Order: sequence, then structure tokens, then C-alpha cells
Amino acid sequence: MTTNDAKSATKPAIDKKALLAKYIAERDKRLRADGNAQYLQIAGRFAHYLEDPYTPRVERAPKTDHVRFAFVGGGFAGLVTGARLVEAGIDDVRIIEKGGDFGGTWYWNRYPGAQCDTASMIYMPLLEETGHVPTEKYAHAPEILAQCQRIGRQYKLYDNALFHTEIEEMSWDDENARWVIQTNRGDRFTADFVGLGTGPLHVPKLPGIPGIESFEGHSFHTSRWDYDYTGGDPKGAPLEKLADKRVAIIGTGATSVQCVPHLARACGTLYVVQRTPSSVDVRANAPIDPEWFSSIATPGWQLRWLENFTDTQSGAMPEVDLVQDGWTDLSRRIREKIMQLPPEEMTPQKMLAAFEDSDFEKMEEIRARVDSIVKDSEAAQKLKAWYRQLCKRPCFHDAYLQAFNEPGTHLVDTDGKGVERITPKGFVVAGVEYEVDCIIYASGFEVGTEYKRRAGFDLTGRGGLKLSEAWADGMRSLHGIHVHGFPNAFFVQPTQGANLISNVPHNLTDSGRTIALTVKETLARGCREVEVTKEAQDSWVELLLTGAGRMTGSPDCTPGYYNNEGLAPSPAARLSVGYPAGASAYFKYIDAWRRSGGFKGLAFR
Ligand code: NDP
Repeated sequence: MTTNDAKSATKPAIDKKALLAKYIAERDKRLRADGNAQYLQIAGRFAHYLEDPYTPRVERAPKTDHVRFAFVGGGFAGLVTGARLVEAGIDDVRIIEKGGDFGGTWYWNRYPGAQCDTASMIYMPLLEETGHVPTEKYAHAPEILAQCQRIGRQYKLYDNALFHTEIEEMSWDDENARWVIQTNRGDRFTADFVGLGTGPLHVPKLPGIPGIESFEGHSFHTSRWDYDYTGGDPKGAPLEKLADKRVAIIGTGATSVQCVPHLARACGTLYVVQRTPSSVDVRANAPIDPEWFSSIATPGWQLRWLENFTDTQSGAMPEVDLVQDGWTDLSRRIREKIMQLPPEEMTPQKMLAAFEDSDFEKMEEIRARVDSIVKDSEAAQKLKAWYRQLCKRPCFHDAYLQAFNEPGTHLVDTDGKGVERITPKGFVVAGVEYEVDCIIYASGFEVGTEYKRRAGFDLTGRGGLKLSEAWADGMRSLHGIHVHGFPNAFFVQPTQGANLISNVPHNLTDSGRTIALTVKETLARGCREVEVTKEAQDSWVELLLTGAGRMTGSPDCTPGYYNNEGLAPSPAARLSVGYPAGASAYFKYIDAWRRSGGFKGLAFR
């Protein structure tokens, strides 16, 4: 008997049929006809939920000048593209950012306990270039924000940046071959080239719970944490002002999982209000030993780590797994299951079944972990996630489940229905009113809403073509970067490129390289315009459609932002995919594209 046989002999067999039936019953409980419309857009009387609690707004004169490159968004996308442009000798870069500093996600999300979910060594961009040594396997938010600021300083991106500024209009001026940019601060300036890195999850949303406007206590969204009210700070100082407070946190997604342990320690009473439990696996964070780091940090180390991680995610089998985290563990398990198949059974159906088996096993382990940690068996039952792991964002934490053992912390499970009502004094679930002093909305960010609503403006390209028109039937691009009809504009995001969701920054740093090279080439040729040809864009989209489709977001999953809240996906969603051969293959392909020097698919004028 092999070790594997011995292990499987001791494990009870999984009743897959019963599990699937349970998954479907749990999903059905949560399906609702209003999908994304269930959420409130934060505007009008709710606009105060968007105010920046971190940086005071500074008055300044409007800009009316011309820059070489204007970039919308000062998160990772803008920073890494800006850095690559500066490295390529293009240093007249202006980043326009609605927050008060660089950082994007990490500017806004300063809730206690915020940390990256993908290992710092590959998640934090430009570590090798800046020389920063991450302090932990999964760095906390202040360190990631500091890395953003470090990039900003090192590449002198602060000099020309416009903070607390939102684009109102960005249109292509065909006659002068340049972009005209107008903002909410009265700016009207021009740029030869523009980049867009507005990020997928930056517009907070509120649950559309009846009575939400009637609450008379204090409330805020997790992405605008009110430390004046809670006490403490983003570095983890205790939230001392909550000691005598009754607090409710609504939502149990990745954000809530990270901040609940801090709230549980601090609050007089904490209600964690749950609609769907998250799957919460082991985190195993650890400090990074600087001595160990210097032993591995030989030139090119970060790219080697990035490629090694991407290989594990793309089904390749690197000899060593450098990153060793929850994501690579998941891939390793799937691969091992598939490798156990006898050669004659290596059919797509059997491989899919092996994939499913490994998912069932993983989720059973995650559910068993709840029982082993949470002492109250009723709460433990309710904290178990009944869906396949990639139906929702997998979470990893070593203190979240433990928080439910704190005497002042109570799970209020809504049995998939959500909060019934908010009253002046608190909230109602299953007819019971819970009185609270403060409600914290951990209710996430807009995903399925229109691109122009999330970006805040609709890009106007050649001949007045709006981006919303160009993408009316779904996104169309070459490499996810260039869009026909929008010359000298570059999109920095994963879709239609590598689409590596488990490590988004890798997609962005790589696109930064392509953009810097393309701009440099345009200038070197003495050209004023670069644009993808319609033919090249069409054939790229055709190639994308030969793939297996989206990996996440199956409609049979429990509802969430991965699957359009459980409603049938819009026809446009079929184009929200990546390179059919996978992320590793994409990075190799695009590297060869860049090296060839042919700029295939682009027209220079
Ligand atoms: P999510 O959208 O994941 O979670 C929102 C939560 O609010 C869900 O639990 C949802 O329940 C709940 N909710 C919505 N409406 C109601 C209602 N009416 N009553 C009760 N509960 C309700 O937002 P997060 O901010 O947690 O995370 C968003 C994304 O941000 C993550 O998926 C991840 O991609 C990213 N993130 C990454 C982190 C990292 O990398 N370290 C950390 C935090 C976030 P239901 O599930 O039923 O819809």
C-alpha cells in the first residue's frame, strides 16, 4: 500500500451526489431576480460614504498644459506603467488619481488587518527595482501603500501627479493627434498618449437594504475606515474606542474576514452579519528573514518568482514551487489528482472529474477546519461554505474563525437572505431587531455595472466613438491593451491578456513593458499615432473565443460578483477571458511579440 492509498483508506468517501444537491439548495436560497440592482450606487444622500477620510484636499490652480503621457489611476497600474515609461526615457508622465495619494486599492483599503492574499514576493510590484525587502510572506496594507509611495518617489511620478482629481472627459482630437482631458478640478490639458488603469474594484457599493437611510447611529464602508470613531490605526493598534460599543459588520467576504478578528478583540459587542459564508483556509503568514532574502535575491529574482508562480497556475509543473501558498497548493492538488489517472484514462472528461474531486476534497477540509476551530457547534455549522472553491474569492486567515470564540462576538446568519431591514436603532434579521451604535458595511465594490459608471467617464475616440459603443457587445482589444478607434490609448488590466487573476500585479507590470516600448517606438519612428488595426483586433478576439471560457463565475455557483450575482451572464461576458493557452503561454507570447520588434497588429502614422 502506498502512502496515498493509506491516506485515502482512512478518509471517509465523499458522497458527491449529496454534496452537489446541498450546493444547489444553498445556491437556490440566495438567487434573486434583481442581481446587481440589489446594491445602492453611492451618490446623492449617500455620497458622504465616499469621502476621503485619509488626506485633506488641497486647492490648486487648474492645469492647461500639455504632457507626453497622462494616466488615469494612481494604483499599481499607473505606477508600474509610469515606472516603465520613465525607464524608457519618457519622463513627462502625469498620473491623475481620485484619491489623495498613490496606492489605489491600498490607498483606500486601510481597514484593520488588511493584507495581501497573494505572497508579497510576487504581489508587491517592482521589489527588485526599488530594493524593498518585504517584511512578511503576506504584507500588511501600510507596507504595500509605502511601496506604492516608494515607486512614486523613485520614478519622480509625484512631480506631475494630480490627486483628488477625477476625469470628466477624455477625447481624441483627431486634427492635432492628441487627447484632451478635462477634470472635476477645472483642468483642461492635452496629452500625446493616455493610459487607463481604473481597476476592477474601486467603486464601493452599499447593500440596498430597506431603511438603510434611517439609521441614526454611526456607519461607514470598510474602504473609508473611520479611525476617528474606532480608535487604533491601520498598523494594527487596538481599536480602543470600540470597547463600550455595539457594532455590526455587514458582509463576510475577503475584507470582512481580515478585519473581523480586530473588531472581535475590540468591540463591546460585535455582530458579524452573514449572507454567504466565505471559505477560509489556513493563512500561515510568517516574517521574511532578510538573510534568506539576500540569498535568493540574485538579479532577475522577481521575474523568476513571478514566472514560477504563473507556471503553477497554468498547469505547468515547475520542479520547485517557490511561492508555496494556497493558490499553488490548489494547483498542485489538481495536478496530482490528474497524474493519478492511468494514461488510457487521460480524457478531458476524466480530467474534469479529477479536478472536481480535488475541489470536493479541499472544500471538505475547509469545512472540517471550521469544526476544529469554532467551539459553538451551531455557529460552526453556519460558517461552512457550501460551494466549489472558485465560486467565490477563496479566503485565507488564521484568526477569523477563532474570532467567533470571543464571548462578545456573535454570528448573525441570515440563512442566505441578507439583512431584512435597517432601523433608526440597528438592523433586523429574521424578525429580530439588533440595536447597535455602529454599522460597518463590508459590502464590497461595483463589478458588474457599466464600465463608464465605474470609470466615471466614457472615453471618446476617433470620430466621436464612445468606448461604451465600441464595447457594447463586449470588450474588444489586442492583448487587452490596444483598442481600435482609440489611438495612443492603452488599457492596463488583465482581461484579454494573461488574465492571471491569482496575481493581478503580474499582468499590470507586464503591460507596462509593452506600453513603454510602444510609445518609445512611436516616437523613434517620428510618428504621432499608434493604433491597433481592426483586422488584428478581430483576429485576437477570434483567438480568445477558441478558449475554454471563463474559469470562475459559473452560473451554477452561489451568487456573487464572479458570476453576475447568479443571473445569466450577459453575452458580453464571453469576452471577459484571457489567452486560451493560459497565463504562462501569454507571457511567453507577448515577450516574443515585444522582442520581435515588429509590433504586429499596430499601425504607426
Ligand atoms: P465582497 O463583494 O466579496 O463581499 C461583500 C459581502 O457583503 C458579501 O459577504 C455579501 O454577501 C455581503 N452582502 C451584500 N449584501 C448584503 C445584504 N443585503 N445583507 C447581508 N450581507 C450582504 O466584498 P469584499 O470587500 O469583501 O471583497 C471584494 C474583493 O476585494 C474580494 O473578492 C477580493 O478580490 C478583493 N479583496 C482582496 C483582499 C486581498 O487580496 N487581501 C482583501 C479584501 C478584498 P454574499 O456573499 O451573499 O453576496
